[in-house]
Amino acid sequence: MTPAHPLLDLPPLTAARFASIERRVAALLATGNDVVITQGEALLPLEGCIRGGAGPGSTALNVVTGPYGQTFGNWLRDCGATVVDLAVPFHTAVTAAQVEEALAAHPEIDFVSLVHAEAATGNTNPVAAIGEVVRAHGALFMLDAVASVAAEPLLTDAWGVDLCVIGAQKAMGGPAGVSAVAVSPRAWERFAANPRAPRRSYLSLLDWKERWIDAGRRALPHAPAQLEMLALEACVERIETAGLAAVTGRHAAAAAATRAGALALGGGLAPFVREAAEAAPVATTLRTPAGVDATELVAKALATDPSLPLIAVKGAARSASVEGGGGRRAGGGALAAEMIRVNHYGADATGDVVRSCLDALGAALAGAGVAVDRPGGVRAADAAWAAVRADASGLTGN
Ligand SMILES: *Cc1c(COP(=O)(O)O)cnc(C)c1O
Repeated sequence: MTPAHPLLDLPPLTAARFASIERRVAALLATGNDVVITQGEALLPLEGCIRGGAGPGSTALNVVTGPYGQTFGNWLRDCGATVVDLAVPFHTAVTAAQVEEALAAHPEIDFVSLVHAEAATGNTNPVAAIGEVVRAHGALFMLDAVASVAAEPLLTDAWGVDLCVIGAQKAMGGPAGVSAVAVSPRAWERFAANPRAPRRSYLSLLDWKERWIDAGRRALPHAPAQLEMLALEACVERIETAGLAAVTGRHAAAAAATRAGALALGGGLAPFVREAAEAAPVATTLRTPAGVDATELVAKALATDPSLPLIAVKGAARSASVEGGGGRRAGGGALAAEMIRVNHYGADATGDVVRSCLDALGAALAGAGVAVDRPGGVRAADAAWAAVRADASGLTGN
């Protein structure tokens, strides 16, 4: 007989086990709301939320701080909603005041979509403050927290998030084939009142409510994505064991170290997100020096160590140019620069990985004839890493 395979011939995942994974995800999201674990990549619940929460007759404020906001705008328009786009340059965050102004200008807004952290462009938005103004206005608040969960604080209920969507594939270090959404009672009411909300559909969150939650979580509506569910359980367990604050702390330190190290390397390498407070802990985007091709630079840096989490970003950011509700955004030109992304998330949120990335980039830049301070870059990264870690453990007294 062939030996047992770790991934094959598994016993079925029970309803009780599925429900317990949901409860642990709810704890991770700091929510008492229902959590639905959606059996697909995070775009599944994101689309499900939009098609359930918006429709003809509704007006949505779509905050665009990176490429995902554009996708949301397309879905919102497709399902018949009137869309007000609030776009800001991707090297910044949107402010609560900007959101408040847009809501005041369009009192009819009843749905707000926002991306918390943008892995693609490296910025993060002040959700707590934005949640306050959205709540005061009364609109339903959808948050894409795929790139923020486990990388930075995510307080679903305290921030008044009605629809909080996560995926496991970024800071959680988990699989991409499963995702989750926390749904507030208000959001369930909105879905139920929307005649166009998906039903008898893979996109239907209401189907899950009826057939799973309201039925007492006793029988799964269909066979779950078993391997992904087991992997999700494993990564939640790993976060519980390490402590969520320790995991987010590692990501904060990785971002600070990458930023400081890149600045100290010099030679024109510069953080794309100008304010450190607006830089996402999940990933750091860097502009390459003038005349240096990002793809070539990354290829050179990866030649010594192909496992480094470095990516060249070119057309993606540029094609994300949109017309904003507040007038034309600074323009594609602002994003046309060559960029590198350091994906220091999950298992790569370590001082070693950051140091190796900076050193490899430094060597590649030096090879391209750019004057850089390689030891200085690594020193600055180490110092920034230590400062964030000391701060987190209360050693610096503030
Ligand atoms: C990564 C990510 C997703 C998921 O999309 P993929 O491209 O499949 O990884 C969704 N939203 C945000 C903000 C993300 O960073």
